[in-house]
Amino acid sequence: MDRIENLLKELTEALGTSGFEGEVFDIMKGRLAKVAKIEKDRLGSLIAQLDTGKDSPRVMLTAHMDEVGFMVSHFTGRYIKFNTLGGWWPPRMIGLPVKIRGARGDVIGVVSSKSPFHMEEKERKEIPKSKDLYIDVGLTGNKTPDSLGIRPGDPVVPYFPFTQLMDEKTYMAKAWDDRVGCAMVIEAMTKLSRLKLPNSVYGVGTVQEEVGIRGAVTSGSRIDPDVCLVLEVNIAQDIPGSPEGATEKLGEGVSICVYDATLIPNARLRDLVVKAAKEKKIPYHFSAIPYGGTDGGKVHLNKFGVPTIVVGVPARYIHSAAGILQRKDFDAAVKLVVEVVKRLDAKTVKGLV
Ligand SMILES: [Zn+2]
Repeated sequence: MDRIENLLKELTEALGTSGFEGEVFDIMKGRLAKVAKIEKDRLGSLIAQLDTGKDSPRVMLTAHMDEVGFMVSHFTGRYIKFNTLGGWWPPRMIGLPVKIRGARGDVIGVVSSKSPFHMEEKERKEIPKSKDLYIDVGLTGNKTPDSLGIRPGDPVVPYFPFTQLMDEKTYMAKAWDDRVGCAMVIEAMTKLSRLKLPNSVYGVGTVQEEVGIRGAVTSGSRIDPDVCLVLEVNIAQDIPGSPEGATEKLGEGVSICVYDATLIPNARLRDLVVKAAKEKKIPYHFSAIPYGGTDGGKVHLNKFGVPTIVVGVPARYIHSAAGILQRKDFDAAVKLVVEVVKRLDAKTVKGLV
């Protein structure tokens, strides 16, 4: 494994569902403290400022540290009931191996449902509801989960190791959403720290994106950026059942998002990003997502408005146990972010609005 693979392994295997991003914070801080001044806002988001000798324009590069997961709500005998944190589709939850962080350390379990072998024909055809699912940690008899140190409020995440597939440059892991963005922040900031820049750059790891874009509000207000690039995973549409003509495919470079339900990117910033990709021969494709949103949905509404765009890495099966993405798309995305930041001088940023 090379340096980037070690970073991706560390970031994707970390436990960090919404409200419990501490492990991811520490990984980002460990890497970024070498090149930037680190602070934490009062909600827990990480803000790393490069010392470029400039106060403005302020450029925000942001990724969210949290991943979709669950929170223990109560017990029903030997079994654990839970609330979902972030968007889950129940069929993706059943059979999911999970890790619970209890008072006495981590406990491994599996999400399950009533056995299909004991369902009536009609019941088997219905999509199960998450309220009917539970976590089994292997207890028997009268033992209850609190005997293992598990408490209501404890965080739960999928349990799946970072795995290299085929050519070793295709990776399968949990939490690409948005640990791949966290890795992009780290890599882009490290590369930018070696350059003479015409702006002031802030690399951010936000908290609680998956439960309603919360950390982006507080960190955005702290930085008050003049322009923002949101570094995100994108939904690959190269699997059976994808819409015809979809361009978001693994191996096709960086995704430039032209639309989602919370953000229409600043058109001049979009054109600047595309121009940079073309000039530097960085492979790219457009994505348009009619649902969902990102931290950009809140950051672009900060104060009087912030020109904002989302650039990302396509991945299959986000919000599941095991997503798949390719290294070359990650490399293309980092390269584009660095190239765009280099071009954001005071005159250019002023000209965006
Ligand atoms: Zn995300």
